[in-house]
Amino acid sequence: MIDIFENIAPFWKNTVKAYASDVWNKRDITQAQKAFDKKALLFSRSYRLALEKYYAEKGMNIFRGTLTGKVNEWLVQQSALRDTLSIAIAQRQDQIVQKEIERYKNDESYTAQQMLNKIYDAKANENVYKVFSFKDHFKNRSEQLGDDNAYDLGTKINEGIITQFSDRYYWRTQRDRRVRSTHRQLANKCFLFSDPPTEVLKSGKRYTGNPGAISYGCRCFSEIAGKRAKPLRGYIVYEK
Ligand SMILES: [Zn+2]
Repeated sequence: MIDIFENIAPFWKNTVKAYASDVWNKRDITQAQKAFDKKALLFSRSYRLALEKYYAEKGMNIFRGTLTGKVNEWLVQQSALRDTLSIAIAQRQDQIVQKEIERYKNDESYTAQQMLNKIYDAKANENVYKVFSFKDHFKNRSEQLGDDNAYDLGTKINEGIITQFSDRYYWRTQRDRRVRSTHRQLANKCFLFSDPPTEVLKSGKRYTGNPGAISYGCRCFSEIAGKRAKPLRGYIVYEK
């Protein structure tokens, strides 16, 4: 199961990154949007097939109609992400230019000419923002978004399948260093979808939810539990 998440998720991370890079560098945007939409379909299809196959091997026959709804919901979300990215990138680029202007105001040795060179001294036919590279300013952010959205689809499909067979699950984590301590405490415990656990952070913030949905950037997922498994009720974990 973890393999499915790990092997398929990078495709979406790379797609979101490639799209963001096109927008950042003001390449053919219509073309970039088309590629993004096409890859979203492709990605959701292959992710869904992989998970269906995984459960079919366990002898579970899946009612596919429910999954179509989940996948479509995710596709709508990705269209929104596509548009949000364009806005976020424009804002980030404005911020960068603003920062240069601030530096000019505060740093006497930084001349107007130097500032202008830095902002506008792009090579012929290059967009001015190329001076501020995508790699330095937006690559990580776009990868993070791609990753989160990839895992979100995995969670949606996975939950859509499990809830057809059971009302409870085991909490599973990706078992790497990025797993937060509260989720590590939830690992392998049984919960009801209708009574998810709560995490309380040091800051006092509380989040309640099922794997993947409990809090931002969660990559945990649920694994089916049989009716005999005893779920924990009203369960709370505290950040250490
Ligand atoms: Zn998690």
